[in-house]
Amino acid sequence: MEYLSTRGDETRVSFEQACLSGLAPDGGLYTPVEYPRIDPVKPGESYTSLATRILGAFAGDTIEPAVMAQLVERAYNSFAHQSVTPLSQIGPDRWMLELHHGPTLAFKDVAMQIIAQIYDHFLAKRGERLTVLCATSGDTGGAAAAAFAGLKSVDVFILHPFGRISPIQRRFMTSTGADNIHNLALDGDFDDSQAIVKSLFADESFRRDVRLSGVNSINWTRIAAQSVYFAAAQGALGADRSLRFVVPTGNFGDALAAYVAARCGLLNGLELLSAVNANRTMVDLMTKGKLARRPAVATHSPAMDIALPSNAERLLFEVMGRESDRLKNFYDSFGQSGEAELDDRVQGALNCTGVKAVSIDDDETAREMKRLLIETGTLQCPHTAVASAAARANPTDSVDVILSTAHAAKFPETVSEITGESPPLPARSEAFLAKEERFERLPNELYAVREAILKQVSKG
Ligand SMILES: *Cc1c(COP(=O)(O)O)cnc(C)c1O
Repeated sequence: MEYLSTRGDETRVSFEQACLSGLAPDGGLYTPVEYPRIDPVKPGESYTSLATRILGAFAGDTIEPAVMAQLVERAYNSFAHQSVTPLSQIGPDRWMLELHHGPTLAFKDVAMQIIAQIYDHFLAKRGERLTVLCATSGDTGGAAAAAFAGLKSVDVFILHPFGRISPIQRRFMTSTGADNIHNLALDGDFDDSQAIVKSLFADESFRRDVRLSGVNSINWTRIAAQSVYFAAAQGALGADRSLRFVVPTGNFGDALAAYVAARCGLLNGLELLSAVNANRTMVDLMTKGKLARRPAVATHSPAMDIALPSNAERLLFEVMGRESDRLKNFYDSFGQSGEAELDDRVQGALNCTGVKAVSIDDDETAREMKRLLIETGTLQCPHTAVASAAARANPTDSVDVILSTAHAAKFPETVSEITGESPPLPARSEAFLAKEERFERLPNELYAVREAILKQVSKG
């Protein structure tokens, strides 16, 4: 199994290289040269067995099946539900796919837990260490901290904007007690953190010195790991049922994973509704063929406040017939003028993928949270509510599977303000609130962050 860059770099790389480097050297995203054919779920097959088969197909000969099975076992024994991603019924032909049973109560755990195990495996084999660096506005940092805590071959640095994330989100990152997890609290906002991380990735010598790597959703391993629960849901609801997956969307990583599952033969066709909040880039791309630069706007669903969904590039690569030159022109034009347009043929192909996008505003999201409470007696997180509202506004003949991407208790302020009820934190998470927090506060300066990382890494 080999991987190529969407932007046309000639080099083919192994799963191991694609995994450890994240982004391709030409700035493109790694994608399999060919999608493997994978058998759909077998009756009675466990989540871990399915995950072992799917990730094994993507890893090719870089990881032995027996080793992959162990890594998968270790990754998912941290989940509170033995089905890992269980389905719950919320109405006739309406289901929720619950992705929040991991240690930090958001779907990012599903991929991050296994990517950490795979990193550790590759690095131990090579006798190498790596430094993972990420900026977080909330969920990614916690999921990375929980997944990498205590692993020997990886140091993780997480940059968060001081005082600007919710206390629960902060504690999931700062209370791991692990020596290899380093939290840097920046006196700035999320965009400042993101800009510093980008500068550090662009700094050749720093990058080489600390052996920098990224685990955000452009990393192919995350997409591969997320394709598993779509396949599991198809198996649980019946291999012959027509399903529509409704996916709360930010960077389009989760939605792309459904597309990938379908391409590998794991689904009965593909009907996908990508539900965005007021940040409606995906809708404009799907309906008008236009990509335009805009600032991200703040909404009730902060993990989806993304103006440029990075994984849309992988879908565009496919609908452009994998012609990297066209894709590169498209993004170059966007880079220069802040605007780019698809030609009619490509937009036609995009509309034939089975993917649609819908935007839901904050009022509709709030109304949906109240309706779900009345109809099902459950409190849902605002991201999940965006998807549920999108499904309701766009009826289908298929069975609806709405992805529930976070536990309501992760967004207690928004949930209680809208519904008047406070979501209780699951008992297993309460331990976090009692633990000591560790973070280093830093000025909003590139050199300060650079120095803080170099100092820790040299201590080894
Ligand atoms: C990250 C996140 C999303 C968006 O997922 P993408 O793969 O970026 O589209 C949705 N909901 C929650 C709770 C998240 O943390």
